[in-house]
Amino acid sequence: MPFLTEKFGNPSSIYSYGRETRMAIETARKSVAKILNAHPAEIFFTSCGTESSNTVIHGAIKDLGCKHIITSPIEHHAVTHTVEYVDQMDLVKVSYVKILPNGHVDIENLEELLAASEEKTLVSLMHANNEIGNMLNIKAVGELCKLYNAIFHSDTVQTVGHFPFDLRNTPVHFITGSAHKFHGPKGVGLLYINENVRIKPFVHGGGQERNMRAGTENIYGIVGFAKALEIATENYEAESAHIGTLKYYMHEQLKKNIKGVGFNGDVMGNSLYTVLSVSFPKTEKSEMILFNLDINNICASGGSACTSGAEQGSHVIRAINNNPNQVTVRFSFSKYNTKEEVDTVVEKLKTLV
Ligand code: PLP
Repeated sequence: MPFLTEKFGNPSSIYSYGRETRMAIETARKSVAKILNAHPAEIFFTSCGTESSNTVIHGAIKDLGCKHIITSPIEHHAVTHTVEYVDQMDLVKVSYVKILPNGHVDIENLEELLAASEEKTLVSLMHANNEIGNMLNIKAVGELCKLYNAIFHSDTVQTVGHFPFDLRNTPVHFITGSAHKFHGPKGVGLLYINENVRIKPFVHGGGQERNMRAGTENIYGIVGFAKALEIATENYEAESAHIGTLKYYMHEQLKKNIKGVGFNGDVMGNSLYTVLSVSFPKTEKSEMILFNLDINNICASGGSACTSGAEQGSHVIRAINNNPNQVTVRFSFSKYNTKEEVDTVVEKLKTLV
């Protein structure tokens, strides 16, 4: 990476070293825009997916006049905690759309909420759930939002780099991304702002990121984001097929080998191929499952990585399946995993439940 070893120019400097790094950022922006079929002017780099969603939610209230937010109880905390904050500050009214037992958003209920809304509304619904993998039909929800003149934000952190996007033909105002979800560097995010909406910066200061996000750019992160997205996109079809095979193989093997095992979400339906949320019957042994997997060098989480240290368990699992007699583990798969690894994990799980 020459930007860590040779090219030290500040992209805001007008002299040649600065111009070199500025060029690298603009090349990264163009590459990301091309992959997502967006205009480069609609692409902004941030520090993470969380910052991107915070920017959207605050911007929609301040600059787009949204006084009502419709969201779901199973969003990532980047959205739920931000929405709770603006709700507590009395900046908006918040409605939570119903979630069906299979973990999908109840679209009829969404339409009812939109139809009953008397104020300018922001709909914030994630594209793929990071814990259970359920996917939202982002085009259908976008069309619905258009019909009711609502602003639509989708947290796409789980799908950017894992799913083909065609933003020019998708009725969405804002999407977000995070490089570490597709083997890029940690600490760099994406914010797509459709050219038909204008919000002001969330982070104030200098005029970086085309006056949308102040602060000297994370040049290594931005270049890394674009490169990782290019690599993820190059072999997307073969890699997604490989990863999906592992998920469905593990699903099969667990059903065959572990009595009482259950799955959360629409595992065999409209679901992201990288995530499998498994519930094991609660026993003294299975309550220690995450700890025991870890000491056996098997990395899995209880909920999202960001909340796996928390006591209360997962808000997502609680919203769809509030069964106190189960222990939930989320297994995630990448292109680097193998069928043999799945076999090893299932063998070990037989002894841990
Ligand atoms: N949204 C979803 C769906 C996620 O899975 C994550 C995961 O980390 C985030 C948002 C937060 O992204 P970041 O850690 O880049 O802030």
